[in-house]
Amino acid sequence: MKDLKIWMNGKLVSQAEAVLPVNSAAVFYATNVFEGLRAYWNEADDEMYAFRLAEHFVRFRESMRMMRFTIPYSDVDLYQAVREALSGNEAREDVHMHLVAYVLGTGLDATSPAGLYINPRRRPRVAEDSGIRCCVSSWQRTSDNAIPIRLKSGSNYQNGRLATLQAKADGYDQPILLDQRGHVAEGTGASFFMVRKGKLVTSPITSDILESITRTTLIEEICPNVLGMDVVEREIDRTELYVADEAFFCGSGYEITPIVSIDKFQLGDGGVGSMTQRIRTAYMSIVRGVDKRYPEWRTATYKGVRV
Ligand code: PMP
Repeated sequence: MKDLKIWMNGKLVSQAEAVLPVNSAAVFYATNVFEGLRAYWNEADDEMYAFRLAEHFVRFRESMRMMRFTIPYSDVDLYQAVREALSGNEAREDVHMHLVAYVLGTGLDATSPAGLYINPRRRPRVAEDSGIRCCVSSWQRTSDNAIPIRLKSGSNYQNGRLATLQAKADGYDQPILLDQRGHVAEGTGASFFMVRKGKLVTSPITSDILESITRTTLIEEICPNVLGMDVVEREIDRTELYVADEAFFCGSGYEITPIVSIDKFQLGDGGVGSMTQRIRTAYMSIVRGVDKRYPEWRTATYKGVRV
């Protein structure tokens, strides 16, 4: 299958042409900020829907603000760029994209000029539907006073990389990271939710977690208003993980990924939990636009704008 083209600084180029100079802060220090987002193909509508672009753009700009650089693109330009990356590739299937702003100067204090690329890939599957086995990592989540995980910069992800490599070496699928105070933070690229005694619980945004768009989508709308489930945001202790009835990761990339065991403690009956399954079904049908509620969350990338 052919690689999709990359939108880079205004045009679609091949993967081989999308290169960065080795003597750039982007390459050497990973001085970039990015968003990971998904677009879903809806066969019945003959349309590709990008999910919650407006919220991704807000976070993108917050990340740049914290990293102290800017891009010469308005939000309208960003919408247009995402549309071109999808419709220009004639992508008619689910796609995951990285939207990346990078710094070209050389030093640690480099701030400009900043370039932009969008790298669309055919939807990589994160997890089997049957769920994943997690461990609690001995690597601690980077704290907000070191490198704030609240923002999405490539450099942050070495923390998750180390934890992932360790988890895999130890025979698990994914790690769960604890914050400095020993409370549950999140996964390496996903927010963490658990079910205890019938209640959905997730860590607060002060637990060194990314302010996840999927997490907000579940807390504010899908769980309470579509499914009638309230979510409690509170600190989670490590040992609560071992007696949880259900758990899952959520994120733009991970969608809703069930967790079936933690440190080899089986959760529930070891299968996908019933609340997790209901949340996953509701989420997947809304992001694809099969469930037509929340139309403001789905940006049509074909109709109106042809490239
Ligand atoms: N936490 C981290 C560290 C992440 O990288 C991601 C993926 N962006 C998430 C959580 C989930 O965030 P979102 O729902 O906004 O994709």
